[in-house]
Parts: sequence; C-alpha cells; structure tokens
Amino acid sequence: MKLNYTIDCRHCGSHTEYSATVYYRTLSAEEVERKMHIDTECAMRCPVCRYRLNTTEADFRSQVHITREA
Ligand SMILES: [Zn+2]
Repeated sequence: MKLNYTIDCRHCGSHTEYSATVYYRTLSAEEVERKMHIDTECAMRCPVCRYRLNTTEADFRSQVHITREA
C-alpha cells in the first residue's frame, strides 16, 4: 500500500509532502503511524532542517499526518 505523508515542521515552518510504498499489508495507517512513533531508535526528522519530529507523541501528531492509499 501507499502512504502519503504530510509534514508541517514546527521548527523551520516548512511543509513537505511525500509518499512511500510500504509492505505492512495488514496494518492500518493509524497502526503504521503508531509503530513509527514507538520506534525511537529511528527518529523521524524534518527533511529540511532535520529537527526531530517524534520526540513526543503530541509533537508527532501535531506535525505529521499520514493517509493511506490502497
Ligand atoms: Zn524543519
């Protein structure tokens, strides 16, 4: 499935959209989002300024939005 990410970085104010094909066929977009947040070994960063987006769950949810395309 394809996931579309929208990142609104609170640090530098940039707006980034990108999509990725993932193979978590049985996971919903919400589950993927949660998995990405929980995976603190792999910090999710703003592609522009490299500011970490998933320091806290609230930070993540306010800056990153994920939608799924089948
Ligand atoms: Zn940024």
